[in-house]
Amino acid sequence: MPIREDVVVVGGGLAGSMAALSAAETDASVRLVSYKKSTLRFASGLIDVLGYPNGDGPVSNPYAALGSLPDDHPYSLVGEQAIRDGLALFDEVTGDRYRGGHTDANALVPTYGGTVKPTARYPEASAAGLASDDRPMLVVGLRSRTEFDARLVADHLSAAGVPFDVHGAELSFPREFRADAKITRYAKALDKDEEVRFGGRSVGTREALAETVKPRLKGAERVGFPSMLGDEHASEVREELESQLGAEVFEIPMGPPSLPGLRLEDALFSALDDAGVRISTGNPVVDYETDGDELQAVYVDRKRTRVPYHADEFVLATGGLVGKGIDSDRERVRESIFGCHVPHSSDRYDWFDEEAFGEHPFAKFGVVVDDRMRVLDADDAPQFSNLRAAGAVVGGADSTAEKSSSGVSLATGVVAGRGAAASI
Ligand SMILES: Cc1cc2nc3c(=O)[nH]c(=O)nc-3n(C[C@H](O)[C@H](O)[C@H](O)COP(=O)(O)OP(=O)(O)OC[C@H]3O[C@@H](n4cnc5c(N)ncnc54)[C@H](O)[C@@H]3O)c2cc1C
Repeated sequence: MPIREDVVVVGGGLAGSMAALSAAETDASVRLVSYKKSTLRFASGLIDVLGYPNGDGPVSNPYAALGSLPDDHPYSLVGEQAIRDGLALFDEVTGDRYRGGHTDANALVPTYGGTVKPTARYPEASAAGLASDDRPMLVVGLRSRTEFDARLVADHLSAAGVPFDVHGAELSFPREFRADAKITRYAKALDKDEEVRFGGRSVGTREALAETVKPRLKGAERVGFPSMLGDEHASEVREELESQLGAEVFEIPMGPPSLPGLRLEDALFSALDDAGVRISTGNPVVDYETDGDELQAVYVDRKRTRVPYHADEFVLATGGLVGKGIDSDRERVRESIFGCHVPHSSDRYDWFDEEAFGEHPFAKFGVVVDDRMRVLDADDAPQFSNLRAAGAVVGGADSTAEKSSSGVSLATGVVAGRGAAASI
């Protein structure tokens, strides 16, 4: 029997998840089709809405800065209410896992490089680390994890003028792993509270870690670790460390793989399940079928068999250059599935700025959409009557520089998903 839904969303990242959840708010039948894991496994898990518009900033209130964005920016197209709607849906999905919804202002979250990042929503696990808090802080690093240098992070934070005393300490994790062990291995040891030999006794990893940190506290009232404090039982791990240390414990986002990102991905997929969205993952969409200007089906390559997924409405949420929704070679830039129009200079030397930190045109590459997120062709007419786009596949924002990636995915995801459901 052919697979048929009201709405098919292609892409399982933040944008695709939001689009599918929004479409499923109606009684539409929705299917999300995704190839690989999304970029959330590399991302910090922070939800940035707007931190540095047009290279300025950091801004305290992202909404107040929206007016300065160019007309073709996704935020200018969808408007402030769509950003608020996207965040409201995100808050509903993540519940008490995330904080920041009490205010329009950006929170300032320490990063693993020792900078402070303006962000709209942050994991509950990072809450005790906010830079607006003046309690003294200890940053803990592990000697075996050279990618996170606690002393450097502390020095950078001090140099940035944070309103609290901060010092760093490098420790040995109380359990030995292979030199190339993934961060998830550390998280698992803490999740399971694996027994280790410590001080001549056999104790759980959590207690041993707390005992290792204790002599370094030196009056710190909060202790930051790289994000590694458990996966499935992360709150439990943190609470136990807090009670043993007598100080609040928080995680500093890092990756890859990023535990905050992976935890967020799990939360999104469980919300999709709860909302009745059908999920097909692991195989790419490689082709499509049309009738006139209307899309009829997308084709998924399942072990070299092409399986059609029919729908009335489609949402493209396949990511940007990193997620592979946008593809480029030496000659041109294109959208990977439908070959949708991606404006770019024919001279590839114009794709980059000469300055490494300059304004690179490639950062804004993506499909062109209207205010309903319908994908437009080179003549500004809908490419297909029933195709919308959301997230990093949409052009017009330099979201890495302006720190708006997740906000763009939330806002455009909601507009595309609701628009698709309303058009059935
Ligand atoms: C290293 C890194 C760090 C980041 N840090 C932050 C941060 O600190 N703050 C922040 O707000 N945002 C951050 N982001 C951005 C954020 O995580 C998302 O990348 C962004 O929201 C875009 O999401 P998306 O859903 O559009 O795309 P993606 O996350 O790229 O998801 C695209 C999905 O489409 C699927 N797909 C692609 N092609 C096909 C196909 N042919 N068939 C089927 N499925 C397909 C992919 O498998 C994937 O599931 C970061 C991103 C990266 C890469």
